[in-house]
Amino acid sequence: MHFSYAQRLQQLPPYLFAEIDRLKAEATAKGVDVIDLGVGDPDIPTPSHIVEILKKAAEKPENHRYPSYTGMLRFRKAVADWYERRFNVKLDPEKEILALIGSKEGIAHLPLAFINPGDIALVPSPAYPVYHIGVLFAGGKSYFMPLIEKNDFLPDLEKIPRDIASQAKIMFLNYPNNPTAAVAEEEFFKRVIFFAKKYEIMVCHDAAYTELYYDGHKPLSFLSLKEAKECGIEIHSLSKTFNMTGWRIGFAVGHPKLIAGLGKVKSNIDSGVFQAIQEAGIAALNSKEKIVEKNRQIFKKRRDIMANGLKELGFELTIPKATFYLWVKVPKNYTSMEFCQFLLKKIGIVVTPGIGFGEPGEGFFRMSLTISEEKIYEALARLEKCIKYL
Ligand SMILES: *Cc1c(COP(=O)(O)O)cnc(C)c1O
Repeated sequence: MHFSYAQRLQQLPPYLFAEIDRLKAEATAKGVDVIDLGVGDPDIPTPSHIVEILKKAAEKPENHRYPSYTGMLRFRKAVADWYERRFNVKLDPEKEILALIGSKEGIAHLPLAFINPGDIALVPSPAYPVYHIGVLFAGGKSYFMPLIEKNDFLPDLEKIPRDIASQAKIMFLNYPNNPTAAVAEEEFFKRVIFFAKKYEIMVCHDAAYTELYYDGHKPLSFLSLKEAKECGIEIHSLSKTFNMTGWRIGFAVGHPKLIAGLGKVKSNIDSGVFQAIQEAGIAALNSKEKIVEKNRQIFKKRRDIMANGLKELGFELTIPKATFYLWVKVPKNYTSMEFCQFLLKKIGIVVTPGIGFGEPGEGFFRMSLTISEEKIYEALARLEKCIKYL
């Protein structure tokens, strides 16, 4: 039989990390002790009180049945309480909150609810790839908003042509940002709201990293701005805040019509989040502040060691106020891809080339701080040795 992929798969952008994956597998096979600073997946276990709740909840037969599509009301109430405590944002758990099977799921499905074939979406670049892919799968077209250093890695809304803006249906944003580690301040979000209202564009703010901040720079919720709820939703995740990437739980909050639209798509595709995981999610959201603070301290220490070490070796970077990423300039005379291949071949270190997140990411590479301090020191020692070959 002859099977051919649908156009939406044929249109997928080339997978730029294939060569890195191949080199990594090759090095591992040769017995090289590869240090992987590539993936944004915390190495620290989920706090034990959350795991204990899952164990108990897994034994309850009422949790073995199909969950509700929108999420248990108790889970949505826990989200509402958390948003009020953390951001001073009031949400109606009945209409303004939806449980997700991880935020990636919600981001990927949102365009199916609001994008018609040919519609335009405003998508940052470099970025988490799911915004563009979600738009592509819905038959839409992405207009890429470059995130460049000169603009503090915020999109320049003035540069978006008027005819594009007036056709656009949705704008994706993500602060604190992956991969650039940039943060957005109130002033920027105000400009976004003005722009979104002027052109009637819904805003989808991916807020996965709001709790991974350092030195007291607490990131904002987009929804904490006046009138934000009128034009958008925010997508949140327990993955990064509580080291729960494997659990698959997140949530969308914001405008009831947008929440309902996303809910309609989901109720026709999936059947919700395992209730035992929602119970664990409630326990996570109700965690004592010191648990999340302890996590931040671990990443802060790693950030300080790696960022200062890199600076001493002559690398150029801004010390991030949030996220567990470093966005570092590629040394002269290398493309980001060439430099990443060089690091892997010469010293067995995996980092991610900026180009892999989009064209404007060229000239940078991303390091994830998801390895132990000991390994970070080891990585710095290897980098020091290879500097002379540059
Ligand atoms: C890690 C990450 C997420 C979280 O994804 P989950 O599906 O909730 O695990 C969302 N957005 C960005 C930008 C991320 O880096």
